[in-house]
Amino acid sequence: MAAMSPPFDLHTHSTASDGTLTPTELVERAAAGGVGTLALTDHDTLEGLAEAAAAARSAGIELVPGVEISVTWEGGTVHLVGLNVDTGCESLQAGLARLREFRDWRAREIGRRLARDAGIADAFDGARALSNGRLVSRTHFARYLVAQGRAESVRDVFNKFLKQGKPGHVAGQWAGLAEAVTWIRAAGGQAVLAHPARYPLTRTRLRRLLGEFREAGGAGLEVVSGSHSRDDVFHMAQQARAHGLLASAGSDYHGPEQPWIELGRLPDLPPGCRPIWAEWAVAA
Ligand code: AMP
Ligand code: MN
Ligand code: MN
Ligand code: MN
Repeated sequence: MAAMSPPFDLHTHSTASDGTLTPTELVERAAAGGVGTLALTDHDTLEGLAEAAAAARSAGIELVPGVEISVTWEGGTVHLVGLNVDTGCESLQAGLARLREFRDWRAREIGRRLARDAGIADAFDGARALSNGRLVSRTHFARYLVAQGRAESVRDVFNKFLKQGKPGHVAGQWAGLAEAVTWIRAAGGQAVLAHPARYPLTRTRLRRLLGEFREAGGAGLEVVSGSHSRDDVFHMAQQARAHGLLASAGSDYHGPEQPWIELGRLPDLPPGCRPIWAEWAVAA
């Protein structure tokens, strides 16, 4: 038995969801950046994993089959990363299929609302055209509206059109927290709460979220994330310890259009963390 090799990047996206590199391009860029073990974790789909696994064998790195599941918790959206999931698991597949149905309806609804309340007629068709025939995410709407000159940047689109209180906002109806953990565990995987510092939660609500997540069988907290500051990393390392959670690390890479996030550039976990990969092994 040989341990999977470091460094680890356990949160990335491809064109199977809202990333801009194909699974093969993503794996090749990760290998070139020195990543030893990469998880592909597309939003609500396992679609890119077979291609990524084949590319990883060619590139000589380890591929962890993963997924990022959209969850509705106390009226807001949080994301769970599932690591080492069995892609043949029927309950996971069925759960994700239900989320993609909501996603399809929501994309059309975002289009209708942008037409009605922001005077943008063709946003759904534009977003769909950018989605490679795969799932449509808000990122595709954002890229389309930037290309149309409606906003300066993807972030600007979220602020002007997609956030709560803006014309294109549609409330999520995603998986329940415990439900998503159950799907991941049914598939033999480990559930990790993604980019925890990104949620607008008070300390009390964060404590409640982590408690419920742990209670439901959640395994890890994404202590190191491409969207965490140094302070966030240290705060989340403390939270992981306090709640008995393993620590994970992932860039949340979406493509070279966000040059401030790169594969193979993550900081180390702070001392005292128990890495989620410490007990992983693969047949040599
Ligand atoms: P969706 O799952 O379709 O609701 O889209 C969520 C995705 O949109 C996230 O995974 C991010 O990639 C992106 N996103 C969300 N909020 C922002 C933001 N404020 N600025 C830029 N991208 C964002
Ligand atoms: Mn995304
Ligand atoms: Mn996310
Ligand atoms: Mn992500």
